[in-house]
Amino acid sequence: MCGFEHSTLLYPAKNKKTTSDVGDFACSSFDHGKYSNIYYCPNCKNGFLENIGTDKFEEQKLEGQKLYAEVEDHEYLKNIKARYLTNNQLVKTFSSELKDKDILELGAYYGAFLNEALPSVKSYTGIEPSKHAVSYLKEKYQKASILNGTIEEIIERNELEGKSFDTIVLWDVIEHVSDPIATLKTLNSFLRPGGTIIFSTINIESTFSLCMGPFWPWFMDMHYYYFSDRGYIDMLHRSGFIMKNHLHFSYFVHCYYFINKVLSILRGKPVAIPQKAEEMFKFPIKIKLGDTVTIIGKKVNNA
Ligand SMILES: [Zn+2]
Repeated sequence: MCGFEHSTLLYPAKNKKTTSDVGDFACSSFDHGKYSNIYYCPNCKNGFLENIGTDKFEEQKLEGQKLYAEVEDHEYLKNIKARYLTNNQLVKTFSSELKDKDILELGAYYGAFLNEALPSVKSYTGIEPSKHAVSYLKEKYQKASILNGTIEEIIERNELEGKSFDTIVLWDVIEHVSDPIATLKTLNSFLRPGGTIIFSTINIESTFSLCMGPFWPWFMDMHYYYFSDRGYIDMLHRSGFIMKNHLHFSYFVHCYYFINKVLSILRGKPVAIPQKAEEMFKFPIKIKLGDTVTIIGKKVNNA
């Protein structure tokens, strides 16, 4: 990301598959523990997938985008109430940046944030490449403006022409984009002077990540970047922002979903949970491992 040429191999590829299907790109994908070579930059302290920026990678990325557009994540929808709880906390935490503001969200997915934010914001615009998620959102939230496609496609179609926002949010999205600085610069151009960007991501320098080593469950081919504290601060500065704050946050998941994830990671393949156990453990639990972080940046100049 910083252009330094001497990155080192951090973890060699594990259980790499040769083909992908639509399910791999679902947010609730159980494809943990399978990844390409992961490199580490000693300069910006970020981890990243090998081949990033090469023609081969761009080809794979386009293939991935095509698959992602077709995602129908019913597993996620089954668990969406726990996601509402997580986002309810986020909306309360960042109320001064959201209340009565014009909001843009990159990666709206099935509206877990939108559902909690909509009552208090002035306006909400969401960008989402999954066609299934977009039709779900359009039907459920008629007051919101939902745009289907990647940000590049939407700009090309002039759907954001003349629009500007007070706050832009990206929840667990920035590690999925191939050029995060370019994405942040693009978003910067849609922010009003002094506007705010809020994004959450995974932290490769967290104690939990360091303890888990190559078994850290967030290492997967869907995640192109693994940021460190220094890495995301540097990324903000290069895109016309200064960092206002960064904080760890806890998230809610249904207990059975968490058990299922842990078992699947341990066994290296998805585990089927009996229906009865699923019903018994369908209550939300709060998780805080310290390996996820929310960053708040303020626009200081045009990128
Ligand atoms: Zn670097």
